[in-house]
Amino acid sequence: MHVVVVGAGILGASIACHLTLHGVRVTIVDAGQPGEGATRVAFAWLNAYGKTPFSYHDLNRRSIDMWAGFAHRLGVNVTWGGELRWAVTADGAAALAAQAEALQAWGYPTRILDAAEVRQLEPDLQLDAFTAASYTYSDGHVDTTAVVEACLATARERGAVLRTGSAITGIEIDRSRSGAARAEAVRTGGDVVPCDIVVLAGGADMPALAEMAGIQVPHYHTFGATLLTQPLPPLFKNIALLHSPRERQPLINVRQLPDGTVMVQSGAPDNTQEGDRGATDAEAAQIAADAGAVLPILQDIKIAEVRRGRRPIPKDGRSIVGFAPEVSNVYVATTHSGVTLTPLIGAFAAIEIAHGARVEVLAPFRPERFGSQI
Ligand SMILES: Cc1cc2nc3c(=O)[nH]c(=O)nc-3n(C[C@H](O)[C@H](O)[C@H](O)COP(=O)(O)OP(=O)(O)OC[C@H]3O[C@@H](n4cnc5c(N)ncnc54)[C@H](O)[C@@H]3O)c2cc1C
Repeated sequence: MHVVVVGAGILGASIACHLTLHGVRVTIVDAGQPGEGATRVAFAWLNAYGKTPFSYHDLNRRSIDMWAGFAHRLGVNVTWGGELRWAVTADGAAALAAQAEALQAWGYPTRILDAAEVRQLEPDLQLDAFTAASYTYSDGHVDTTAVVEACLATARERGAVLRTGSAITGIEIDRSRSGAARAEAVRTGGDVVPCDIVVLAGGADMPALAEMAGIQVPHYHTFGATLLTQPLPPLFKNIALLHSPRERQPLINVRQLPDGTVMVQSGAPDNTQEGDRGATDAEAAQIAADAGAVLPILQDIKIAEVRRGRRPIPKDGRSIVGFAPEVSNVYVATTHSGVTLTPLIGAFAAIEIAHGARVEVLAPFRPERFGSQI
């Protein structure tokens, strides 16, 4: 079996890597360089926080649980330690408590902390105004570039071929046989690459890519931006990520990579509906200034890099994973929270593609659920 994986972002790289672990011959094709799409920009928080319904929460939760084994196999680091956020109003504290209660009912290890408990967890953190905090100890974050590189290195050691700078411009479909149409090959530039199965993992370009095969993927994207500083001394003693109060603008999200680099994101209140701040250099400079106002520990940070990209989001906010109803051998994989979901989607997609199995937990996330709503 020869599988062509289109897109070498974190999802395509993970699927390709897992396919080679099942002995499948793989060619990975990317229009640009691996991991340069949404994957590079991502805040990369591994979480199942605020994700509904239960099936989607659970999908993310399972994937978090798979991250340690996946990272170990790849030889990459996961920064564990959990996520802390705080509130500055009574309403904000009530919202945190309600969220914690809902998450606890789903078995997610979130709890409410008072100021003394926060001081115990993070003695150096000065939180500007405080009514309550919540802490989820299971969460972590990763260096997405390192993950993509390690997935592709593993895949290539097992015989996969990587073609970069090769945009797919067409998918050849045989519609002559009775039954569902089948993809025969992909076209890139003047080349035609024959294949048995095509995996589409094109991030924000999924609708255009899928359209080449006559497949509809209901999808939109929002603007995303993250700022990186030069390496700084350790910010946190225990936690891995910090979110500023959601009831007060600007929203500041902070994590620190193992080399000391700090990543700052300033998203919209519901970051799946609106884009992030940071589209211009002036806006990015303002975020850096805001970060210091929200968290004194970040005063006078210097921006080393601004990453900008498009956040892929399926129409109903949940993953789309599985063979397309329109073309029986085209497998679609796209999602928001794709960093969290990388081990699970990679592992389960590979089982489905290599063995023809149908993994039960993916049932609510099939492309055909949209039916005639597209
Ligand atoms: C600001 C921001 C913050 C985020 N924060 C988080 C977070 O905290 N936690 C989390 O889990 N997720 C987060 N995400 C979401 C996550 O980044 C994405 O879900 C994930 O990176 C998607 O990976 P992907 O491989 O599908 O897409 P991408 O990384 O975009 O990769 C798609 C690839 O397809 C290639 N491609 C497209 N069209 C073609 C073509 N015609 N031919 C060949 N190649 C093609 C592109 O070149 C690209 O390399 C965030 C995203 C953003 C933007």
